[in-house]
Formats: sequence, structure tokens, C-alpha cells
Amino acid sequence: MKTQTRRHWLMSAGRYAVVGLAGFLTGGILIKRRKLLREGNCVSRGICGGCQLYADCRLPQALSRKQVLVRISHEKNKEIYK
Ligand code: SF4
Repeated sequence: MKTQTRRHWLMSAGRYAVVGLAGFLTGGILIKRRKLLREGNCVSRGICGGCQLYADCRLPQALSRKQVLVRISHEKNKEIYK
């Protein structure tokens, strides 16, 4: 009975250690990405299409893409209301 309790405790401790490590690594990656972005470096090789930071990104590639998308949307609206 006592061995089983110790085994359960070790398994729980291992599980919590894995979850903690995963959280730590995820947090580290997010912090690193934010730091790179703040320093003016792209974190996704300039491919803004699938980038998770696109909405908040102020790098030239992202701003250019946003301008193009706005321009395309205006041109489509002009065609619709002709
Ligand atoms: S949104 Fe574009 S420019 Fe900004 S980090 Fe992502 S890929 Fe790089």
C-alpha cells in the first residue's frame, strides 16, 4: 500500500514537472518572440499571412500588407457601387 502511494506521488510529481516545463518553454518562446518584434526583427520570416502577431505588428512588411489589403478592399467597393 505504501509503495503504491509513493509510486502515485512520483507519477503526479512527474506529470506536474512535465506540465511546468511545457509552460515554461511556451512562455519563453512567447517572450522571445515579443522581444524580437520589439527590436524590429520579424519572427516569421516575413510571411505575414499566417503570422499570429500580424494584428499588432508594426514592422514594414506587415504595414505594407495592411495597406495593400485596404487598397484592394476599396477597389472592390468601387466596383460594387459603379
Ligand atoms: S506580422 Fe509579418 S512582419 Fe510582423 S512578425 Fe509576423 S511575419 Fe514578421
